[in-house]
Amino acid sequence: MKQLTILDWVVRVDVEATKQYYRNLPDYSEACGCDQCKNFVLGFQMLPDPIRSFFTELGVDPRYNAGELYGMMYNGDGTYLYGGWCHIAGELVDGADCKIPVPERLGKGFTFHLVHVNEDHSDLRVGFTRDLVLVRNDFPQPILQLEYNLSVPWVLDSTPE
Ligand SMILES: [Zn+2]
Repeated sequence: MKQLTILDWVVRVDVEATKQYYRNLPDYSEACGCDQCKNFVLGFQMLPDPIRSFFTELGVDPRYNAGELYGMMYNGDGTYLYGGWCHIAGELVDGADCKIPVPERLGKGFTFHLVHVNEDHSDLRVGFTRDLVLVRNDFPQPILQLEYNLSVPWVLDSTPE
């Protein structure tokens, strides 16, 4: 396990175990196959290296199905905004959990405290939470969840919805 300080958080991660696990996963174009997922898998590769390496330095690859990926909206500038999360073999050492319950008087649910990763003017925003959702049952323990929002180029011929 190696300890990293990332924005508002200190995490301990097993990069090798995480990387190895992601190697055997289907990507989202296989796991789901909708246009938004297909586009993410292709469009992510076109992002500048500092954005892709934010993920690879943690051992994760958001194109592969350990967590969740969902399309949020077409930005109107040729890019599409996605949300998602990736599981990591690791733990949160310091920093507030990014998943924050909505005050009771405002109803049920959560908000996420995501912090902008200022690399190459991208809109990548991230946070870490211990509240795990949709974990594969053979994922290496302990498990940490990386939440993110990210725009990637729309590269399919179809019109984005
Ligand atoms: Zn999909």
